[in-house]
Amino acid sequence: MIKMNKAKIVLHYDEIALKGNNRSYFEKALVSNLRHFFKSKNIRLEVERSWGRIFAKGDISEELFESIKFNLKRFPGISSFGLAHSMPLDMSNAEDLAKYFAALLGEKSFRVSAKRVNKSFPKSSQDFEREFGALVYKAAKEPKVSMKNFDLEFFAEILDKEILLYVKEKGLGGLPSGSSGKAVSLLSAGFDSPVASFLLQKRGVRVFPLHFHASEKTGKEPLEAVKDLSKILSEYQSGMKLAVIDVFEIQKYIAKNAPEKLRIVLIRRVFMRLSSRYAEQLGALALITGESVGQVASQTLENIIASNEAASLPVLRPLSGLNKNEIIDIARFIGTEEISSRPCEDTCSLFLPKFPETKAKMKEVLKAEENLSELTELEEKAYTAMETFNF
Ligand code: ATP
Ligand code: MG
Repeated sequence: MIKMNKAKIVLHYDEIALKGNNRSYFEKALVSNLRHFFKSKNIRLEVERSWGRIFAKGDISEELFESIKFNLKRFPGISSFGLAHSMPLDMSNAEDLAKYFAALLGEKSFRVSAKRVNKSFPKSSQDFEREFGALVYKAAKEPKVSMKNFDLEFFAEILDKEILLYVKEKGLGGLPSGSSGKAVSLLSAGFDSPVASFLLQKRGVRVFPLHFHASEKTGKEPLEAVKDLSKILSEYQSGMKLAVIDVFEIQKYIAKNAPEKLRIVLIRRVFMRLSSRYAEQLGALALITGESVGQVASQTLENIIASNEAASLPVLRPLSGLNKNEIIDIARFIGTEEISSRPCEDTCSLFLPKFPETKAKMKEVLKAEENLSELTELEEKAYTAMETFNF
């Protein structure tokens, strides 16, 4: 393989650019998340903004770039990126670079696209595309060019002092996590809630996961899985704190003192109250759940409404209209599928009624709750004993 030196990663964003006066705020959030990401991977790169793009500079080998491509393709806020090689404005190394790109092709088809930012560069972007394309064509073993259905796009950015050339990779777009405020995400070890958390990270929300457990009864597996999930989600925002609350005493109390069929709705309401309280403590503006309408008994519209009533903040449900297979596709995409498919007994599978209520009536729920005279005190105790873990 032909080795090229002086590479740097160039990263583009699109939606951020539309934000007018807030633009620099969004750019700073993206830079800060990227710095955090590189640090978490022990990669020493300098990240800086310049001319409406972001550069990551330092000692970057192709192996290093390959090892983080997975993450960059999923990084909230990045629309495209690539490992860029530098060509001087006199194009003196054009042939070498053409050989380098041709060697990447194999059986693949390509196109060259150029964007001329430097208006004093003597060639038009189309001229550059044709000229460099011809060099790659000449250097390739089995050249295949396709303007529309290309496998690889060799992208050239003609800047003031140099031309950057790279294979353009598509990113996810969206907004950098942290640029749209904070929310508490109710995180379980299942498939849905990590996906819900990620979708809102992608819309700029900084997520604070909160997990309810009953380790005494279920063992440590769910908690371990939730920690592993938080670690994955932590790569897309700068810093993450997982909070966990032991609700086993509350569950036992509800199981003993409330109508059996209402157990699920009642524990959901406990989750909503404790999460709202945590969110208010953090200054977070909303809650996030992985509920999808009709997926299970607790997620009929009636039951969602009955638990929602106990929340004091808006509850965002980004998966409400998705099917399970669509959710699992996203879980696979973000890398949480394997962790979520570990077999473990979740808090919610404890004390499951034989015939759970599927159409909870608000009046009945409130009446059952009124009879739970020790509930407030137990919630207080559980909340005070909350533990946190930083990632
Ligand atoms: P998931 O796949 O996210 O576990 P699920 O299909 O198991 O969801 P439910 O158990 O009804 O569905 O949970 C609905 C939502 O309630 C979850 O997506 C999550 O946001 C929240 N939730 C459920 N259990 C817990 C828990 N132990 N801790 C925190 N949040 C939870
Ligand atoms: Mg679950």
